[in-house]
Amino acid sequence: MTPGDPCFEFRGTLECGWNIFNRKGYSTNPGDISVNHAYLDHLAEAGLNWSIVFWTNSRNFQDAWCQAVEYAHSNGIKLARAIYGFSGGGSEYTMAEPGVPGHLLRPSARGERTALCPHDEETREWMALTLSERLAPGVDGIDIEPAREIGRNCICEQCQALEGFEWDVLVINLMADRIRMLSPECEVILHLKMAPDRSGKQSMSDSLQGLRDHIRHIFAWGADDESSLTDWLNADPRFEPFTKLARVLLFPGGNSPKQSVEERVARTFNWCKLAANRGKSGHVFDYRIFGGTEWAGLEDGPPVSRTGNRLPASIALMGTAMTNPYLDTQGQKSLLSELRSKCDWDLENPERFYKGETAGT
Ligand SMILES: [Zn+2]
Repeated sequence: MTPGDPCFEFRGTLECGWNIFNRKGYSTNPGDISVNHAYLDHLAEAGLNWSIVFWTNSRNFQDAWCQAVEYAHSNGIKLARAIYGFSGGGSEYTMAEPGVPGHLLRPSARGERTALCPHDEETREWMALTLSERLAPGVDGIDIEPAREIGRNCICEQCQALEGFEWDVLVINLMADRIRMLSPECEVILHLKMAPDRSGKQSMSDSLQGLRDHIRHIFAWGADDESSLTDWLNADPRFEPFTKLARVLLFPGGNSPKQSVEERVARTFNWCKLAANRGKSGHVFDYRIFGGTEWAGLEDGPPVSRTGNRLPASIALMGTAMTNPYLDTQGQKSLLSELRSKCDWDLENPERFYKGETAGT
């Protein structure tokens, strides 16, 4: 790294499709889906360069994905589609693969017809074909969350014979090999659920040594406090931070913030610094991941796309923290003053954060 270069090579956000797309609720009707160009403009303006998107893999999203990729690339942004590896039977917001032929579905601990078996040859072929369709718009990455992480893995005898993370390694490598064959430059990214304690995280690292070398970025849910994040980063060179911007850093506990904006922003920079100090190359923030329904009181409402032409302060904050985590207190003060005057100021009020400029201030 030379002075002036961004700290992390991979500076991303993760969501379920209500940021990058203007999308009506959970609709998968192509008429209800269009590219949110302003969002991609804002990511680029703030210095982010990756967006990872779950829940947008039904065939009806294919045209929107082609348009999103073209526009993102013209702005220097890379896009990754996220997939529940070998889950099945239902719509994506139930954490399933959409469009699986019924006869391939198998039981998991979640119930009948909720899983796919990686030992079944026809299922492997279906997954290979599906991956080629997912890559077709020219996406830059595939993010895999193996079905075992969400309790939807096949429980046939052969699958049950695999212990702990062995099942995950099998399905991830199957998919990673196929992706490499179809699109050698495509980044294979992982999303796992971290063990809560330090020894569990170390044992995860040991169990995942069999993963293909071309998997460079491993993110996981669960780094919601500083010690958990530190243990995760220390456990393995490939373990990188995935941080909940709103639910942990900006509006902790699901309430209007008690700490000052200066304190919350300082914590955001400090957490990025923990990763930068350890030489991590990637960082991802959760950004409005479920279109606002992750917020207490909004769970039963429809997810919404946030619209507005001004750069949200929250996106600017993510970009600056990942580009320059070493910004000192004085620098952070100047940043906040600039964001207050130039940006859509959404660092104080969760409603504003989730809904944008049309919400209360
Ligand atoms: Zn099986």
